[in-house]
Amino acid sequence: SVRFNDRVAAMQPSATLAMKSRAEERRRQGHPVVALSAGEPDFETPKPISDAGVQAIRNGFTNYTENPGTLELREAICSKLDRDNDLSYTPEQVVCSNGAKQSLALAIHALCDEGDEVLIPAPYWVSYPEMARFSGAEPVPVPTDVDNGYRLTPAALEKAITERTRLLILCTPSNPTGTVYSPDELAALADVLRDHDGIYVVSDEIYEYVLYDAEHRAFASLPDMKERTVTVNGFSKGFAMTGWRLGYMAAPGPIAEAAGKIQGQFTSAPSSITQKAGVAALEMDKEPVEEMVSAFRRRRDVVLERLRAIDGVQCPTPEGAFYAYPDVSAFFGATAPDGSTIEDGGDLCFYLLEEQDVALVPGPAFGEPDGLRLSYASSMEDLETGLDRIEAGLAALR
Ligand code: PLP
Repeated sequence: SVRFNDRVAAMQPSATLAMKSRAEERRRQGHPVVALSAGEPDFETPKPISDAGVQAIRNGFTNYTENPGTLELREAICSKLDRDNDLSYTPEQVVCSNGAKQSLALAIHALCDEGDEVLIPAPYWVSYPEMARFSGAEPVPVPTDVDNGYRLTPAALEKAITERTRLLILCTPSNPTGTVYSPDELAALADVLRDHDGIYVVSDEIYEYVLYDAEHRAFASLPDMKERTVTVNGFSKGFAMTGWRLGYMAAPGPIAEAAGKIQGQFTSAPSSITQKAGVAALEMDKEPVEEMVSAFRRRRDVVLERLRAIDGVQCPTPEGAFYAYPDVSAFFGATAPDGSTIEDGGDLCFYLLEEQDVALVPGPAFGEPDGLRLSYASSMEDLETGLDRIEAGLAALR
């Protein structure tokens, strides 16, 4: 058999994959599966953005660009950070990459090494621990509580910090929970970090624009935090641009330089065409974004009301992103109509798929055993059908 690099061999394939392939298999067999498992907006990229991409091709803007991205795009990002986040960066401190995923990988690899610990509040986005491990560091999940909306508390952070802690990864608004940290909550976390030199923060703010009645605060904008924070953001979620592949980091100069060095040897800059589209996204009127977010809000309201009406389901209010993350642990130990026992979230999700043809993502994929993730980046019709099925499936458990 092939001998692989140790870190590649140790890497976990996406835990959501088994679920996804089973859903696809059922669909091929003719079952009317409703998938509430997607991680991307079900909207088209707004026209001014697509037009800019087409224009770039027509104008022959199709060569390599500067490695960290064009100056035009990095300047537009600096204006955005200043306008939206009260953050002042120069273009040298910005690195554009093929999606926020690459930005995260670059930041983590630039900062972390063997022997380091990376604190990751759970439930977390699935790739953080794998990226940390690949850098040689050890991912340390920090548990949170459904009762305070899955927020990392200052006490839990303080308790998790050791001599080896190198990095804390924050995600607000959060995938998979929709949790948004308030400015005060972030300030309380910053207070803990202020007493610990040498701990950096990667703040994943990719859902910044997908926000309901909550305020988004960039972690780097808190007093003393800019020097230790890498802000990661991207275009996939807020502008419905998942396929264009564009994300960026804003970081202290030496970190941006190190990240750029890795990018220069591994991938080079993102597509020139995509970068032109990115400039248009940052400069366009935000109405298409607002319309998309209003649609998400209407769906969130329906999803939340219906989930909470189910006996045994506990669901914090998602204030951002497009996911609900109900706690379904009340059903663990229950018996399905076929006599099998639902032991955990994985069993429950497979049961709902097999019996009700609704696809969700089980909590253990996100490092949290009691919940599951429902994405409302789906049509209202699919959501209503999916929720009918979840309701029926849970009602059939004894
Ligand atoms: N961060 C979070 C929390 C996400 O949910 C995603 C996408 O699923 C990403 C980063 C990566 O986004 P992209 O690489 O498309 O910019």
